Amino acid sequence: MRLLAALAALCALAAPAAPPEAPASRILGAALAGSGGFEIVEHLCDRVGPRLSGSPALDLAIRDMAARMRTFKLHRVWTEPVSVPHWERGAFQAALTAPVSVPLVGLALGGSVPTPDEGIDAEVIEAASFEELTAKGEAVRGKIVLWNRRMVAGSNMDGYGQVSPLRSKGPSEAAKLGAVATLVRSLGTADLRLPHTGALHYAEDVPKIPAAALAAEDAERIHRFLAHGERVRVHLRMTPRSLPDAPSANVLAELRGRDKPEEIVVLGAHLDSWDVGCGAVDDGAGVAIVMEAMRLLRALDLRPRRTLRVILFTNEENGLAGGKAYARDHAEELARHVAAIEVDSGAGRPLGASITAGAGAVEQLQAILRPLTALEASAVETGGGGADISAMKAAGVPLIGLRQDTYHYFDWHHTEADTVDKVDPALLARNVAALAILAYGLADAAEVPARIPEDQRKD
Ligand code: ZN
Ligand code: ZN
Repeated sequence: MRLLAALAALCALAAPAAPPEAPASRILGAALAGSGGFEIVEHLCDRVGPRLSGSPALDLAIRDMAARMRTFKLHRVWTEPVSVPHWERGAFQAALTAPVSVPLVGLALGGSVPTPDEGIDAEVIEAASFEELTAKGEAVRGKIVLWNRRMVAGSNMDGYGQVSPLRSKGPSEAAKLGAVATLVRSLGTADLRLPHTGALHYAEDVPKIPAAALAAEDAERIHRFLAHGERVRVHLRMTPRSLPDAPSANVLAELRGRDKPEEIVVLGAHLDSWDVGCGAVDDGAGVAIVMEAMRLLRALDLRPRRTLRVILFTNEENGLAGGKAYARDHAEELARHVAAIEVDSGAGRPLGASITAGAGAVEQLQAILRPLTALEASAVETGGGGADISAMKAAGVPLIGLRQDTYHYFDWHHTEADTVDKVDPALLARNVAALAILAYGLADAAEVPARIPEDQRKD
């Protein structure tokens, strides 16, 4: 027996130790066992509320998220001041006054000027594109323009991108032809008579006219009257106001690289939101995913070669001041930014990533995301990025978007329905797994993605 015991001991000594578990599988196991940082979105929605630039709620969110990240035991957590636009919605009233008198459901567009105090009463003219309105020429003068183009259910970011210029540039396009106000059929796909807000961009040297979004159903009703050849009149009164720029901040946190700490991978999301709903899918979910990925890597003691830097941007929605300030204030550092990832597509399941970079970057990302194949989150496309990180494009920083299932995203985005109940902790956890594997893989890779070629750095 003693001999047997001795032999067994010898065998045990000679047996090879189990190979250390790969970082990606440790990340997967830990992320999927968690809640994906759901409590962060819950806090932002239920305790802090909507976080429009210039609001006390955004200030509170900045303080709370910095304090929360200080509990993660990272190497550094700090804020950087940013001056942001400060716009307030005020009151909104709209009604059809002919051929019938009924109230209309709508929301002012972010940045809109007010109507005169007594409101605007004018006939409505409709167009589905800039070209269509231009063709109407003088008929537009003195009218309220209704931009009426349907966004189909299940639209992805590209679908949104096709329609959103009607909202952002439509007011000035209409003003060029002498319109007195504009209404845009709500971007969005729910059709539950939910108006959808968002930013507009007035052109210089064109009169600024009031602009609002109408619920899709109300736009359809106007369309039917017009299709019958009837004259449609709308009364619009709204009292938004633009105040002087307000102080705000980006929140940053770092896990310093063990080998090349001067080289940086950015993980970004935006902390501000519109003032309707509470910014749960846009972009409380992104904030949670980014923060939880960082917390998880620290908790697993996974320290990659390069530095991971979280940035919770301010003012994505109506100015991009946070993203622009970061690129400006860190201009000297951008040559050492090896990638910037943005998470701003909601809380749907992760699908993979998209990247804007030089040759070979897609294949590099495919290799990094391979452990996510079973989650169906390993597909890589070209053309990735995000609004906050777009200011780094001029410096050639490879830009990456975490791709997510956006089938329901535009049902809720920028509406009163963007609330925390739309966020599923299990899907959030999958996103944390995907982002942590992506960010760790990039920060620990032997070779970094090639930078965006010089001739592709302009928008
Ligand atoms: Zn967003
Ligand atoms: Zn948004």
